[in-house]
Amino acid sequence: MSYPVIVGSSVTGLLISQSLSRAGIRHILLGSPRPGEDPRLGESMNETASLACSTVLHPSLRAFYFPKSHISLFNGEVLSRVQFDRADRDLVPTSAGQGPTPYRAAVKSTLHIDRVPFDQALYDLVHADALCDFRERLCVDIRSEHDRITALTLDDGTVLEPRYVFDATGARAVIGRAMGVTRKATSSRQRVVWTRMHGGESCEAAPWWRHGTNLVKLDLETDGVDAIAWLIPLGERVSIGISLNADTVKDESDEALSDRMIDAFHRRGIDLRGAFPTPDRILSLEHDYGIRDRAHGANWLLAGASFMQVWFPSSSGMATSLAAAELAPRLLKQPALGEQYANTMRTYQRFHRYLAQMIDGPAHRASAHGMDFWSGWLADIPVRMAESFDLKPGLDPRRLAASKLMRLVSATCRRSASLQLFLWGFGFIRSVHQPTHAKQTEAFGPYRLHHLQVTAGMLGLWPRYYASRIRAGRAPSRNTTAP
Ligand SMILES: Cc1cc2nc3c(=O)[nH]c(=O)nc-3n(C[C@H](O)[C@H](O)[C@H](O)COP(=O)(O)OP(=O)(O)OC[C@H]3O[C@@H](n4cnc5c(N)ncnc54)[C@H](O)[C@@H]3O)c2cc1C
Repeated sequence: MSYPVIVGSSVTGLLISQSLSRAGIRHILLGSPRPGEDPRLGESMNETASLACSTVLHPSLRAFYFPKSHISLFNGEVLSRVQFDRADRDLVPTSAGQGPTPYRAAVKSTLHIDRVPFDQALYDLVHADALCDFRERLCVDIRSEHDRITALTLDDGTVLEPRYVFDATGARAVIGRAMGVTRKATSSRQRVVWTRMHGGESCEAAPWWRHGTNLVKLDLETDGVDAIAWLIPLGERVSIGISLNADTVKDESDEALSDRMIDAFHRRGIDLRGAFPTPDRILSLEHDYGIRDRAHGANWLLAGASFMQVWFPSSSGMATSLAAAELAPRLLKQPALGEQYANTMRTYQRFHRYLAQMIDGPAHRASAHGMDFWSGWLADIPVRMAESFDLKPGLDPRRLAASKLMRLVSATCRRSASLQLFLWGFGFIRSVHQPTHAKQTEAFGPYRLHHLQVTAGMLGLWPRYYASRIRAGRAPSRNTTAP
């Protein structure tokens, strides 16, 4: 009897295994021991990943979810933020997962996940499942005929004849490489240093930055390096990390880079050493972003990061893994669906380039630059939602109509920042010009979002936005900057 085989038991492999088990499909999972306590990458979810987490994954995993109510960007003289909801909102939208999920529910369900206990709990669930034959083994040889994988040899000499193979080996892409699938790098080589800080107090009046994902663009003049850093609050701890061109910091230790990042937050009014006094282990890696020229073959799929990686501020890594997991049971019957998976994932490439423009581009100098940036970001969400709807089974006419409409909305909003802002951006985006870095964090008032505020934003912000555009001395063309 031949079974589907998942190669790699990190998060992508575990998610696919859970999905196959839920569909009653017996399978083999090749992987490593239970994950330990080391800080993980991949804790901020985008809108499609958040919905899938809330609706598809085992409910016990919700214990490790935290609301992500905004994304902020400290960039040059400007602090900007897109706020999805109140900080005290419920985690799981009631309408999620039933029929065509409205855009509103999607952006209101966004999550952070504490990946350390999450990965351990997911591992335990998968390991205990009778339909999963978990083998702590590496795959060391792959045989194929006419694009069909015929045999996998394990490091104990066992030979498996798989019905279907899921490559869940991340950027290593063990199956992808064996099948001769080429990869194109889409960024310079990056050095990433990341850690967590613990011991924060949970308090009602937590500062605004403790309710969402925060991005900081470091620059040479202010911080001594050009880099992009993240800060993800997870209740009593925060996950932080920094990514920068690997060639520029060859002589600097991981510890020094971590200090540099914490100093950069401090410079902008976020005192992590004071608020989270207990440091964790500091980890690092070198990698680049990239995409392979195909994602599937006659009986195999490159799932998640084995197919492509997108600039981290997109928070899309888990989304690519969850999409593969949702599709996994149907792929066994219809391997050609792999093409649809690849096409859906490729839509992220535009977003990748958009983020690269911000990361490598000039610092923001006027509040309109922040508004424009988030307007382009928001414009891309409907098409991503549409793509994820189209991966779902069946031809529900309501879903098809919603999908078409969302594609149209994205296409239109990408052409004009003003139109996007007028339709819904002004209600949710705030952007403040504050050249004194130390005062930037204070620039935002109370963390609230209700209908009145949205309406006030719609009415009050557009004159200020146009005034800022005029002051900035440029008329930004969305055709060149939108994703
Ligand atoms: C700086 C940075 C920040 C990020 N932030 C986010 C974020 O905020 N949100 C988000 O969603 N994503 C984020 N990501 C992406 C996310 O981290 C990845 O998508 C995710 O970690 C990929 O997981 P994976 O299971 O596919 O691969 P990996 O975690 O790379 O796991 C691969 C597994 O395959 C196993 N393996 C390898 N070779 C073999 C073999 N021959 N046989 C058997 N097993 C094998 C390995 O042991 C390992 O367990 C970020 C990425 C980076 C670089």
